[in-house]
Amino acid sequence: MNFTKKILFAMAAGIIIGIILNVSLSNDNVIKDFLISNIFETISVLFLSLLKMIVLPLIFVSIICGTLSMSDPNKLTRLGFKTILLYMLSTVIAISIALIISNMFPYSINEIQENSFNGLDINEPKISEKNFILNFIPENFFFALSSGNVLQVLFFALFMGITASFIKIDIPVFVDLMENLNQILINIVFVIIKITPLAVFCLLAKTFANQGVDVLTPLIQYFVLVIVVLLIHFFGSFYIFLTLFSNLNPFIFYKKLKQLLIFTFSTSSSNASIPYTLDIVTKKYGVDKSFSSFSIPLGATINMDGTAIMQGCAAYFLASYYGIALEFTDYLTIIATATLASIGTAGIPSAGIIMLSVILEQIGIPLEGVALLLGVDRLLDMMRTSINVAGDTCITCIVAKSEGLINTKIFEDTSEN
Ligand code: ASP
Repeated sequence: MNFTKKILFAMAAGIIIGIILNVSLSNDNVIKDFLISNIFETISVLFLSLLKMIVLPLIFVSIICGTLSMSDPNKLTRLGFKTILLYMLSTVIAISIALIISNMFPYSINEIQENSFNGLDINEPKISEKNFILNFIPENFFFALSSGNVLQVLFFALFMGITASFIKIDIPVFVDLMENLNQILINIVFVIIKITPLAVFCLLAKTFANQGVDVLTPLIQYFVLVIVVLLIHFFGSFYIFLTLFSNLNPFIFYKKLKQLLIFTFSTSSSNASIPYTLDIVTKKYGVDKSFSSFSIPLGATINMDGTAIMQGCAAYFLASYYGIALEFTDYLTIIATATLASIGTAGIPSAGIIMLSVILEQIGIPLEGVALLLGVDRLLDMMRTSINVAGDTCITCIVAKSEGLINTKIFEDTSEN
C-alpha cells in the first residue's frame, strides 16, 4: 500500500472506530477511557512532540540555507531581486485571499470547542498584545529559541543567512555544515512523517470518540475552502499577474501547465519536481535556461502559494475551533509568518503542515490542531504542491518576459498540446 493510501485508510479507520466508540460506549466506560486517554492520546502527543522538536531547528537551518543559496552575488542582481519580490508578493496575495474567503464563510463550531479541549492552555500570550514590529527582534536569541518564539528565530536566521551570504566564499565550512545539517533535518522529517498514518488514526479516533460526527462538517468545510481558494489563486491571481506584469497570454500558460500539474500532484514535492519543471519551463514556455535554472530551484525553496493558502485557511479554522477571536494584528501576523515561513519550508511532502505549527504558535492556537488537520492534509498537499509549482512557473515566465529571456515563439506555440 502506498503512503497516500495508508493515510486515507488510517483516516477512514480512525473515523469509524471513533464514531463506534462514541455511540456505543458511555463517557465513563473504562475501556473507552483507556483507549482515548492512554493509547490514542499518547500516540498523538508523541507525534506532535516530534513535530515540535524538529520545527525550530528545521526553520533555522533551512532559512540559512535558503538565503545562502539564493544569494549568489552573480545572480542576486536586479533579476534576482525582482523574482524574489514577485515570489513574496504572490505568497502574500495567496494567504490574504485565504483569510478573506475564510472570513466570508465562518465555521459554526461553537458546540465543539466547549467540550473538546479540556486541559489545554489556550491562553498563551498572543503576539498582538505586544508591538507587532518589535516582536520580530529577539533581545536574546537563545531565549527566543528556548521559549519557541518562531518569529524571532526566523528573523535571526534570515539576518544570519543574509550576512553569511556576503562572506560565503570565506566560510565554506559553515556553508557545508549548514547544508549537511539541512539534509539531516529533512531526513528526520521523513522519519517522523512515517508515523503519520498511525498518528492520523489515533487522532481521528480520539476526536470522533469524544465528539462524534459533529466534527466532520467543519473539517469538510475546511477541505472544500482550501480547494476553492487554491482555484481562485490559480485562475484569478496568476491570470492577473500574467496580464498585469507581462503581456503573455494566460490561456496558453494554463494550457501548457497540465502535465506539470499532474506530475507535481503525484509527487507532492516541489523539490522532487524541479527537473521536470525546469524541462517544461524551458522547452514548452521558452524561458532561457540561464534564468530558469536559477528561478525554478529558488521558487521550489521559497515560493509556496498553495502552502500559504492552506496555512491561512487552517489558522482561521483552528482559531474558530478553539474559540479564539482573531484580531487585525493576528491576521497581519499570519500573513507575515506564513510568508517568512515559506522561505524556510522545504519543498517536500507535508512540510507545509509542519510549518503550520509556526503560525499557530504565534497566534496562541494549540498545536494539537495540526494533528486534527493531518487526516485531510495528504490530499491537500498534492493539490497545493501543484499550485506552488504553478506559481514558480508563472513568476519565472513573467520575469523572463520583462528581461527578454523568453522565446515568445516557443511560448505561443501550442501545436504539441
Ligand atoms: N509539499 C509542498 C511542496 O513541496 C510543501 C507543503 O507541504 O506544503 O511544495
